[in-house]
Amino acid sequence: MVDFTSDCQNCAALCCVALAFDKGDMFAFDKPAGVPCQHLNGPLCNIHTKLEAESLKGCVQYQCDGAGQRVVQEVFAGQSWQDTSALLPPMLEAFAQMRQVHALLLLLNSAKALPLPEAQLAELKNLTLQLSPEAWTPESLASFERSNLPQTVRAFFQSLKNFLPQR
Ligand code: SF4
Repeated sequence: MVDFTSDCQNCAALCCVALAFDKGDMFAFDKPAGVPCQHLNGPLCNIHTKLEAESLKGCVQYQCDGAGQRVVQEVFAGQSWQDTSALLPPMLEAFAQMRQVHALLLLLNSAKALPLPEAQLAELKNLTLQLSPEAWTPESLASFERSNLPQTVRAFFQSLKNFLPQR
């Protein structure tokens, strides 16, 4: 069962390194992608309890949908780039790929609520299985990214619009 709840305790602050943000309503300063945030202190944010007061609403609202801890715990067996700096590039790559996997799984999960005929239900199950190996590895995530699975899932989801409830 995939856990889509962000679990920062079991992550390695991947979002605080991977993501870029721009100074504005949601963020108090600019941060480029792939660079640790200036407030990152070990695995933790040193202003975690006052993000809103520090004009960092974007940090409060961001959810990785469970991708971060899965990369650390499942793909890298609990290791962190903070102990082994050479792990940073592959962990960031895996984080981007896992965010995509989880976004597609969430799309498929939302389709489960629709009144689908058997053929579509079978395809939904098939695509979900393809996105749910026993354990992801850096290699399998890279293969996923190179494959046409992301486009196939999106096209399948689009094809379900006739099954949406009519207003
Ligand atoms: S302010 Fe804190 S939560 Fe936001 S990116 Fe920086 S370290 Fe992460």
